Amino acid sequence: MTDIEKLKSAIRDVPDFPKKGIIFKDITPILKNKELFSLAIAKMVEPFKKQKIHSIVAIEARGFILGGAIARILNCGMVPVRKQGKLPSKTYSVTYDLEYGTDTLEIHTDAVNKGDRVLLVDDLLATGGTAGSVCKLIEKSGGEIVGLSFLIELAFLNGRKKLKDYPIHCVLQL
Ligand code: AMP
Repeated sequence: MTDIEKLKSAIRDVPDFPKKGIIFKDITPILKNKELFSLAIAKMVEPFKKQKIHSIVAIEARGFILGGAIARILNCGMVPVRKQGKLPSKTYSVTYDLEYGTDTLEIHTDAVNKGDRVLLVDDLLATGGTAGSVCKLIEKSGGEIVGLSFLIELAFLNGRKKLKDYPIHCVLQL
């Protein structure tokens, strides 16, 4: 089995979670296995290893796990983007449309400095709405987006189309 096949086969499909009609891609079987976790991080970081990066901006919640590990490999900082009301200090926020209703994400106003070179990290790219909104937060903070790294891409949802201004790296296409 190739490394990619090993990672793909470890992802658990959970039908109708968190609601009917969604097939949830559960990455916990990868995280609990030291070889697979390490492999996933190595693959996510590969194209960015030689780039100058000040910080990882990671999206709640699974993005934190991957982003923290990637920050240690790149020897850079880690900035959390969280759902509304979770960050304790002053924030910038962005609200975006979901299939039903809206969602709001926040970043501390002093988390990314003007001119900082940032890598955005999350577990999965679906429609691209979440990542696109986080790009707005980074740019509002004055950061420069070096790229976006995801473990999984649900390619049929065309999330890349919304993010065509940025270099995108996805380890697994499902
Ligand atoms: P989107 O904004 O549509 O690109 O959705 C991406 C965000 O929603 C990421 O933070 C993912 O963790 C989560 N997400 C969306 N669809 C799924 C799925 N099928 N399985 C697991 N997580 C998902």
